[in-house]
Amino acid sequence: MKFNYHTHTKRCNHAMGDEREYVESAIEHGIEVLGFSDHAPYNFPYPNFYSAFRMQREELEEYAETVRALAKEYEKDIRILCGFELEYYPDFHKEQMSFLSKVKPDYLILGQHFIGNEIYDLASPRLNGDLGLSAYVSQVLAGLATGDFLYLAHPDLVGYRFSSQVIEQEYRRLCEGAKRMGIPLEVNFLGLRTNRHYPNKNLFKIASEVGNDVIFGSDAHTPQDLYDPSSEQTAMGWVKELGLNLIDKPLL
Ligand SMILES: [Zn+2]
Ligand SMILES: [Zn+2]
Repeated sequence: MKFNYHTHTKRCNHAMGDEREYVESAIEHGIEVLGFSDHAPYNFPYPNFYSAFRMQREELEEYAETVRALAKEYEKDIRILCGFELEYYPDFHKEQMSFLSKVKPDYLILGQHFIGNEIYDLASPRLNGDLGLSAYVSQVLAGLATGDFLYLAHPDLVGYRFSSQVIEQEYRRLCEGAKRMGIPLEVNFLGLRTNRHYPNKNLFKIASEVGNDVIFGSDAHTPQDLYDPSSEQTAMGWVKELGLNLIDKPLL
């Protein structure tokens, strides 16, 4: 893997290692472009509400300053970018974008884990029958349509426990929408590494038919995750078998 835009840090409370440890691991393993995309702090209009799985809003500047100082320090060895993994929450998106703009992120990736939002909808797509998948896909497509995202992380995060007919139909709608907007779909290595239900080969079969661009993303939650030859081999196998359009040059 020569470039990776999906990297977390311990700031999100469920990953290990600080920014420098990720940079050193990336250099050691020959990565040329390392994008940090920790779970974005959310400036919800409820001062007392804090997500347990993202950095706190007070850490925004320190994160960006740390990443940018490392980018300078290591500029001869590696290109380092400061981004975020962000949800698309329609009710909060505009304010959230202006909050994040304080640190001028280099890019955002869309990582959608909820329908509606995590505060008052508390709607796990898994609990809503077939309609859940359809609502999820609609929200993801609306998020991509904002033009704020470089790519779609784990497009197949929720695509299970639904009827196969709905999965086929909704995956196709997702792939066609992303294709229309020119937005790549990620093959998520965290899912491969930890044997999750994603990445889902059925989605990538459809992506092959639709002609989507696909990109590999480490989704590193430890510095060691940046070296993952086994997931890369599996993903390359899919690329060859399904004839996927793999992005082979850095996007940024
Ligand atoms: Zn995470
Ligand atoms: Zn992630």
